[in-house]
Amino acid sequence: MSKKDYYEILGVGRSASDTELKSAYRRLAMKYHPDKNPGDTAAEEKFKEAAEAYSVLADADQRQRYDRFGHAGVSSGAGASWGAPGFGGIEDILGDLFGFGDVFGGGRGGARRSAAQRGADLRYDLEITLEEAYRGMTAQLRIPRLETCDTCKGNGAAAGTQPENCNNCGGTGQVRYQQGFFSVARTCQACRGAGRIVKNPCEACRGAGRIEREKQMEVKIPAGVETGSRLRVQGEGESGTQGGPAGDLYVVIHLAEHERFERQGSNLYLSQPLTFAQAALGSEVLVATLEGEEKIKIPAGTQTGTVFRIKGKGMPVLGGRGHGDLFAAVTVITPTSLTREQRKLLEQLAIVENKDLEDKGLVDKVRDIFG
Ligand SMILES: [Zn+2]
Ligand SMILES: [Zn+2]
Repeated sequence: MSKKDYYEILGVGRSASDTELKSAYRRLAMKYHPDKNPGDTAAEEKFKEAAEAYSVLADADQRQRYDRFGHAGVSSGAGASWGAPGFGGIEDILGDLFGFGDVFGGGRGGARRSAAQRGADLRYDLEITLEEAYRGMTAQLRIPRLETCDTCKGNGAAAGTQPENCNNCGGTGQVRYQQGFFSVARTCQACRGAGRIVKNPCEACRGAGRIEREKQMEVKIPAGVETGSRLRVQGEGESGTQGGPAGDLYVVIHLAEHERFERQGSNLYLSQPLTFAQAALGSEVLVATLEGEEKIKIPAGTQTGTVFRIKGKGMPVLGGRGHGDLFAAVTVITPTSLTREQRKLLEQLAIVENKDLEDKGLVDKVRDIFG
């Protein structure tokens, strides 16, 4: 199960620039491209490996995660990986590099190719609580999406009929015409680029080949996610058309605000109230954590603003080991209503304190300042 290092796959150093990454990947992609190595599965494997490595390292966010956590930082379980926004997979990178998409699945041109389209990627915004992010969770999602029509199996034709090749474009979906020196291709108007024409449309999907359905699914949300974390679920976007591959689903995490804790990275912060006596005399107090409570010692003479650090009680580190810390900032509470007894005790304290200040000559000093 040990995966090869992405930098090793691309043959670059860990500090390689974006340009170096791109040219290393381009070189490998050219060498192992399926069009150049037909039927060579080892080459195809290398080609995909390089594409995966590049897709991670080319994205600053993912690269940083990979540098810190290795493969664990950029993938989380079967079929899911941490993706970049709008990153549509291998075809997109190649489209970007070579100026064409869809390099897999047969030769260039022809009716099948022009009609088969990858389904759209979908985005699902999921709000979770801090507790859920702390433990990780399985989210139940209901995703409305276009799925291949069961009745016609996606070809759009009524039962017992088949779509016919479009005569206008000969099934390519495009009509070419000469304009000066250039040959210009235009989407065929007769079939709207599909390359075929459905004479008797399927009743279930009205000939579209896809139907909108609500898909229920479970998606595992790993512990440690934060607002903006994106979970890519491969192939769970919309179905493709005419046999094209499905798009991907991106689950984008939003953390709900918590009434007690604030989060920064993997650390948690909270404000810890103390009574005047607890702060002055010292005490043991229970500090809330996301697992329950933790006892800490407050030394005598603790001031408002003092911060106590409780190690390992912060958020789990995403894709890595360990937890951040919990920081409790002390606020000494001045009482707003006093019982008779409390008032009496505080008045006695005031007398003693006043005398103490006078003994130290502090009162005179203060008088000097305000003249
Ligand atoms: Zn149908
Ligand atoms: Zn046509």
